[in-house]
Amino acid sequence: MNLPDSIQVIERGWLSANNIVLHARAGAVVVDSGYGAHVSQTLALLETALAGRRLARLVNTHCHSDHMGGNAAIQARYGCRTSIPEGEAALIDDWDERALILAIADQRAERFRYDDTFRDGDTLRMGGFDWQVIAAPGHDTHAMIFYSPELRVLISGDALWENGFGVVFPQLFGRDTALAETRATLEAIGRLRVNVVIPGHGRPFGDAGAALERAFYRLEGYEEDITRLARHCAKVMLSFALLEKRSMPLAELPAYVARVPILADINRHYLRMTAAAFSEWLVGDLERSGAVRRNDGMLYATGN
Ligand SMILES: [Zn+2]
Repeated sequence: MNLPDSIQVIERGWLSANNIVLHARAGAVVVDSGYGAHVSQTLALLETALAGRRLARLVNTHCHSDHMGGNAAIQARYGCRTSIPEGEAALIDDWDERALILAIADQRAERFRYDDTFRDGDTLRMGGFDWQVIAAPGHDTHAMIFYSPELRVLISGDALWENGFGVVFPQLFGRDTALAETRATLEAIGRLRVNVVIPGHGRPFGDAGAALERAFYRLEGYEEDITRLARHCAKVMLSFALLEKRSMPLAELPAYVARVPILADINRHYLRMTAAAFSEWLVGDLERSGAVRRNDGMLYATGN
């Protein structure tokens, strides 16, 4: 993959977003900080990547737990300036657990401070290159992506992955514009000249056109039938929780899906199953896709 030496992608899994380290004489910048439960691993990886060089700044593509969960620890270690998308500022000020999709999804993050914000149209200097800040609403209303015209590299966060994009929450917070926003964001990416995409999850990839085609195909499926999105969202939320817990007694699952607000809401609004049927369907479907396995009354995350 054609990335300059100054850009180092620390590829993580699904619980933690990738950390992108952009080295420069003026100090390194790291984009996104991973999930809270992985903080010690994140700090160790970052220390190796920096190899004694100064970390000047931490930047977030958006403020979901898997992208900002390591912020507090990185700030404590490096005392670096921290910059977040403008729209996230109020949520971080109030530590709005609902808007940040924390407690309502059984997710956690340590509270952190930020020094400044950036918005659509701004330019960030990272790794010795100028990056255009582009609004990328959809998966997160306030998300930003970063594009270097000189390098033709896009740091896409969860707006575009090699296979799809970060889950869109159906009508969460009474907002029914998320799919239209997702479409507009994908179209905006389609207008850029991109040689390499560095996504928030998964490896960097070259063929942005093919990834966009897959993303649009997926999006059309959700536009046709919103319950597809609801089912996908429920599976993503449960498998994410399971990645953190690693395992869960199967007998506790019906009570869990009835208790965790985001899962209960999806079921109530779109699927209308009993808690037992909802959890049985979730496990069966996640098992078929290889994301979980059952053994001896326990449900395990496979990490796939
Ligand atoms: Zn996200």
